Amino acid sequence: MKIAFIGLGNMGGSMAQNLLKSGQMVSGFDLSEQALQHFAEAGGVICDSPQAAAQEADVIITMLPAAKHVRDVYLGEHGILAVLKAGSLCIDSSTIDPQTIKDIAALGSEKQIQVCDAPVSGGTMGAKNGTLTFMVGADHAGYEAVKPILSFMGKNIVHCGAVGTGQVAKICNNLILGISMTAVAEGMALGAKLGIDPQALAGVINSSSGRCWSSEVNNPWPDICENAPASRGYTEGFATQLMLKDLGLAIEAAGQVKQPVLLGGLVQQLYQQLCLQGDANLDFSSIIQHYLPTKVS
Ligand code: NAD
Repeated sequence: MKIAFIGLGNMGGSMAQNLLKSGQMVSGFDLSEQALQHFAEAGGVICDSPQAAAQEADVIITMLPAAKHVRDVYLGEHGILAVLKAGSLCIDSSTIDPQTIKDIAALGSEKQIQVCDAPVSGGTMGAKNGTLTFMVGADHAGYEAVKPILSFMGKNIVHCGAVGTGQVAKICNNLILGISMTAVAEGMALGAKLGIDPQALAGVINSSSGRCWSSEVNNPWPDICENAPASRGYTEGFATQLMLKDLGLAIEAAGQVKQPVLLGGLVQQLYQQLCLQGDANLDFSSIIQHYLPTKVS
């Protein structure tokens, strides 16, 4: 099986390396010379355009920053849909809006090309360790076809429903995550101001009904969780700008179906403010600085 991988950045670079480690033949393209160099060092075949990478491939995986890049790679002037052979399978793992991938899948099906969405959770460590969760939007046959390929890069491959539903699952999860992180930050900061030891407070929350991933694994207060970004200056985590992007996707999708996302809107503004003040690359748990007297960076 020949695989093409387009978008070899922080996530895609490691995912492609795991495909190579499992013995697959992988050709790849990225706009970044450095990304291409790492890919070649791992045994990948560098191509000079998305079309060149994709035209001989049976499976094409894309891992790109946002919807505009995904549209460009599939449908743009040098887009891959124009050169793919009938019967090929495309998997987009970028986090984008559900409608974009539905549009691309509809155009693909006119040429007997199957396109599905499989956004991920697990971050850069999950990508590196091959432990990602994939949220797959595809028909049953499509899901069965992508499952063995995704298993080289992840450990949970979840079928969410038809094309687009993988993105729905991803943006709803991250909507909840952004809100829950802000709630934990608010509670931790209030407790500290009222005089409780943050360590004691976190212990109570994590054995009580306030417990969640943001309190237990990625607590925003420094030195509560040894391996959390808050304990290393909010570096090397899930960037605030990516959380802002995902909240924007959730709010945009909500607008299309006229569904209120009240807390999501509020939290989006808080993340927007963090980005404006220059903290776009800090972990999203740095939202706690809205509640502290001094800046964390
Ligand atoms: P990244 O910016 O590190 O990588 C994206 C890569 O795409 C870059 O190397 C860039 O050069 C390349 N690119 C852009 N336009 C291109 C084009 N037209 N053709 C070829 N390559 C192109 O981003 P990332 O962190 O790898 O994230 C990728 C996607 O995964 C995003 O949609 C992001 O929201 C999602 N995601 C990221 C994380 C994370 O922790 N980083 C976690 C889950 C999901």
